[in-house]
Amino acid sequence: RRSRAKELLEGSNEPQREAVLHEGSPLLVVAGAGSGKTRVLTRRIAYLVSERDAHPGSILAITFTNKAAAEMRHRVADIIGNRARIMWVSTFHSACVRILRAELHRFGYAREFSIYDDADSKRLMQLVCSDLGLDPKRHPVRKVLNWVSNCKNDLVDHESAGSRAGLGEESYPEAYAQYQLRLRKASALDFDDLIMLTVHLFQAFAEVREHYRRRFRHVLVDEYQDTNHAQYVLIRELCGPSDAGAAAPAPTDQEAPQEGAIDPPELMVVGDSDQSIYAFRGATIRNILDFSTDFPGARTIMLEQNYRSTQTVLSAANAVISHNDGRPAKNLWSAAGDGDRIVGYVADSEHDEAQFVASEVRELVEQGRGTYGETAVFYRTNAQSRAFEEVFIRTGVPYRVVGGVRFYERKEIRDVIAYLRAIANPADDVSVRRILNVPKRGIGDKSEGAIDALAQKAGIPFSEALRRASETALAPGSVKKITGFVDLIDEHRQLVADGAPAHDVLASILDRSGYHAELQGSKDPQDETRMENLAEFLAVAEEFATQASTVDLDGAGAEPNLVGAPEPDPSLPAFLERIALVADSDQIPDAESGGVVTLMTLHTAKGLEFDTVFLTGCEDGILPHQRTLTDPGELAEERRLTYVGITRARKRLYLSRAVSRSAWGAPQHNPPSRFLGEIPDRLMDWRRLGSAVTSWQNSSATARYRERNRIEGFASRVDSPRAKKSIELAVGDKILHTSFGLGTVKKITGSGSNAKAEVDFGSMGAKLLAVQFAPIEKL
Ligand code: ATP
Ligand code: MG
Repeated sequence: RRSRAKELLEGSNEPQREAVLHEGSPLLVVAGAGSGKTRVLTRRIAYLVSERDAHPGSILAITFTNKAAAEMRHRVADIIGNRARIMWVSTFHSACVRILRAELHRFGYAREFSIYDDADSKRLMQLVCSDLGLDPKRHPVRKVLNWVSNCKNDLVDHESAGSRAGLGEESYPEAYAQYQLRLRKASALDFDDLIMLTVHLFQAFAEVREHYRRRFRHVLVDEYQDTNHAQYVLIRELCGPSDAGAAAPAPTDQEAPQEGAIDPPELMVVGDSDQSIYAFRGATIRNILDFSTDFPGARTIMLEQNYRSTQTVLSAANAVISHNDGRPAKNLWSAAGDGDRIVGYVADSEHDEAQFVASEVRELVEQGRGTYGETAVFYRTNAQSRAFEEVFIRTGVPYRVVGGVRFYERKEIRDVIAYLRAIANPADDVSVRRILNVPKRGIGDKSEGAIDALAQKAGIPFSEALRRASETALAPGSVKKITGFVDLIDEHRQLVADGAPAHDVLASILDRSGYHAELQGSKDPQDETRMENLAEFLAVAEEFATQASTVDLDGAGAEPNLVGAPEPDPSLPAFLERIALVADSDQIPDAESGGVVTLMTLHTAKGLEFDTVFLTGCEDGILPHQRTLTDPGELAEERRLTYVGITRARKRLYLSRAVSRSAWGAPQHNPPSRFLGEIPDRLMDWRRLGSAVTSWQNSSATARYRERNRIEGFASRVDSPRAKKSIELAVGDKILHTSFGLGTVKKITGSGSNAKAEVDFGSMGAKLLAVQFAPIEKL
């Protein structure tokens, strides 16, 4: 046992050790990037379980990356085996979902509520805005939705939102009210509701709050600088001092008789105010700065040694962040040695920039100095990934875009999820309407309109109105088709009620709805990809069920008072809940196994680390972002974003910018990022400045030669008669053209051998192509 404690503290420095060992009062660990905050939090959990006999079910850990969560479970599993799984390690959102599943009925919600993701919420708000007659030019749906989201993050409900409406926003409180009403009717919650409603529950029902305060004896929060007001209040409700004035809550059934008020859970939060990058989602560093006032008696521990990066990388990061005003001075140092200088590169265009990154990555790998999996490319906005994708595809650098078009955003996946939701939650109108006529079953707009009118008139959910289709003026033939659909859903609802696991329900609905058959009968090669995606989705569901059952076996009887334990449940609702919460960072491939370069935005990079990091688009107008240039507060946030980016690098950092890049079809010339100028020259190794020929171009002549051959190889593949089978393109498809590169189809005219496609090739401009003859490949 003693050796376990020793092992957990091994190699830790003194303040890290103190943070692991601390007992009792609330604890704040503040420290710069890479100083071991997440590591300390992980080890503390293991220590709690192994040395302080904490029950794994009494631990709530809030993390943001899958990697950190896996590491925490792994460490605890080493100590207590599979029971580690009953620990709550999750994001704020997932934790709240579990609580809401158990408690939300108190607010009159059905247990089977749906969780609307961003796309669903947008569609719903779209309906509200058009109902209210809001001019989409002056009031874009996204803007109204953001306004509502901000309210929720500040725990302002629609009744009290009136005073927040600024000039021109007078109708937003009403939009908020309507939006909530529609959500409620659909038995659905959006992401922000998950947090807000949990707080409301705790505040409205003292016994619920007390129950979770008793249940969680240890609460640990990573990345505390990015919590918003609602999340802070949630933590305060859970871990704040017990309010003496409040009436003693009634004991809930399964609980041990209580001897007076129990101590609040032990709270540990870790964070770095220099890495606060989510102000636009309501995050506020106030939560870190005021921690000791919010939680009286709190102890603060600071860490100063960075274990991640070379001193060169760290000095650059420190130099940049020191330009922000009003921050407490930090003294972050590294013992890792100076390492390589930072490579700077000025490209002619974004393509040139991408070429440079691709050649450099290949060289690193070929010389055995790096691996694809330990390399990341960061950019400020998602749209910048395009140039990199194009060049990476051409040159054969394996890569993965995190947070681009996500698996769960593909049409076919969203369709079947809509089926599953319609089955799980009868009131989910958005989902029911999405698949009402998918695949086509003769229930057209007219039928949908008639049903909608009936629903409005009778004040019932859409799905209820479907059952009463005969009351409409629709022809008997149409009514029959609708009844067929209702039967299809009911049949699967019965399957769920009989206890069928999610993957069985999924397989059955794919078959019985005709969805699978339609794809199978299609000649469009894209539909083949769709089938593959559906197969993958089925595999996800199956895997979910097996995991769930192993946990169930192990966890059985181990914890009698387990509320919403993670994943003991292979049912459809549990599965839907799981996939509703798949975060961007969940897609980050395992460095060891993945072996592909990771492309992502700076925001997604938080908490991660890579041997080699390319921080691209270092231009005023890109990083910092154009709209922040005139606002000191926003500029400071962009600087923090840059600090986050730089500090992800362990050994090698590249900073690049392009002299010209395409924006909305026209070339844009951005000056170098002001943040580049804040890095001392001695740390930089500029490989190329402007368009002069440089050593880089000479030295990688071989790489370029190889690259050209690959492109030619590709061209001959596309041009060969065998590859010339007819392609069908649709608006939105991505294609690869031998000369113009990656493009997106904007418009299609004509058909068969006369089909023409208007394709946007980014900086190469828009081109009109003869679909059957152009040297293109559909991606
Ligand atoms: P960020 O602010 O970026 O989230 P962090 O403070 O959470 O960083 P960690 O990710 O926990 O830092 O640690 C950075 C790296 O340093 C990790 O690879 C971690 O394993 C390593 N590390 C931290 N402390 C030590 C230590 N005492 N000995 C050896 N390695 C350490
Ligand atoms: Mg961390």
